[in-house]
Amino acid sequence: MFLVFQVDEYLQNLQLSDEKLMDLSMRFRREMDKGLCRDTNPTAAVKMLPTFVCSTPEGTEQGEFLSLDLGGANFRVLLVKVVSGENRRVEMQNEIYVIPEDVMRGTGSEFFDHIASCLAQFLEKMGIKEKKLPLGFTFSFPCQQTKMDEAVLMSWTKGFKPTGVEGKEVVSLLRKAIKKRGDFDIDIVAVINDTVGAMMTCGYDDKHCEIGLIVGTGTNACYMEQMRHLEVLDGDEGRMCVNTEWGAFGDDGALDDLRTDIDREIDAGSLNPGQQLFEKMISGMYMGELVRLILVKMTKQGLLFHGRATPELLTTGHFKTTYVYAIENERSIGLAEAERVLQGFGLNPTVEDCIGTQRVCEIVSTRAAHLVAATLASILRQIRDNKAAEKLRTTVGVDGSVYKNHPQFARRLHKMVRRLVPDVDMRFLQSQDGSGKGAAMVTAVAYRLAVQQAQ
Ligand code: BGC
Ligand code: MG
Repeated sequence: MFLVFQVDEYLQNLQLSDEKLMDLSMRFRREMDKGLCRDTNPTAAVKMLPTFVCSTPEGTEQGEFLSLDLGGANFRVLLVKVVSGENRRVEMQNEIYVIPEDVMRGTGSEFFDHIASCLAQFLEKMGIKEKKLPLGFTFSFPCQQTKMDEAVLMSWTKGFKPTGVEGKEVVSLLRKAIKKRGDFDIDIVAVINDTVGAMMTCGYDDKHCEIGLIVGTGTNACYMEQMRHLEVLDGDEGRMCVNTEWGAFGDDGALDDLRTDIDREIDAGSLNPGQQLFEKMISGMYMGELVRLILVKMTKQGLLFHGRATPELLTTGHFKTTYVYAIENERSIGLAEAERVLQGFGLNPTVEDCIGTQRVCEIVSTRAAHLVAATLASILRQIRDNKAAEKLRTTVGVDGSVYKNHPQFARRLHKMVRRLVPDVDMRFLQSQDGSGKGAAMVTAVAYRLAVQQAQ
């Protein structure tokens, strides 16, 4: 098809060869090292943060827990019941709460007051306001942790921006907001990243699971690392889960050769310019907008829509990432979706325009899948070398809207990872509700240990 060829040529620098991806994977491995080593950590872009989660679940955990899930597509409060023994299972009830736009951009104390008020509503609704339950807080942002229930927010990412929280310890902010209300009491036991939640929930079902991956609004991964490699902490025995915060890969210029004009434009228009540069090439928060910017550029050069853009097409954020999922559906359905979306923008697309748009979507989302494959391959090699294993058998617990809802993303990711590390036998397991269940899981383990210690 002539047009597809034109689009491909136009977007050549978004299509990464196997060699480039292999090189990228090697580069990321060095970035991981930089983050792990005491001397280089302070200047490392990829922070490799200790999580204080030292083991995956045993299966003997039990009890009733609360979880908060903050930092994904929805803010949720959950009541999680973990049952051990023969009927080992996890039961959950949850509510989604809206965080209004003005609270998202307001002050930190307004923000935590809102969280506490949603929690109060939930406890009321469940009829458990009088119980003092242990709570696990999934807070999906880069945090410096010194123990399991202490997390200093390094910087907001994705769409979050409440003021005065960066550099602060978030558990104490939440405790303060709850205390101020005075109508309920809870015991905040753990703060975890969503990647850790994904790893822990899948770890409950598959003991080989030692990696957690998120490709959703943002992107990130964690894995079980040897303590002796985690130089920023004392102690050489055993393992600890490390939150890589790979979204920040490239923030020191390390990806400048791969980033395009479009990537620079996305970054310039974002809430956090200069930060999370790898994430901005990949995650759901940016995918649709990347496509839109390319369509606008191609239109201005007369390659699409007879060279005429409409105000709708020219509006930031109008091309939703969910449109990319729809358009990349199987050929004919996808083309019909492309037509529908473009008509919604007031355009009158020809078949060629629809095919061209579909190809743009394919190129953008394939690049995203391949970039994730390259960094995931680095983690797999690290684990393989840690175990000095000829052949590693491992499981990756995965969550996130892009991974789960894009019709082709998972398949492309799996295929490329296997090509980049053919000697690793890996299984991808979708985490069911990792952010809610995982926090309860970590809390359950911590709680069991705390109770044992107190006795
Ligand atoms: C955050 C990570 C998180 C990821 C996926 C990123 O923006 O920095 O902490 O794991 O999004 O939610
Ligand atoms: Mg150490």
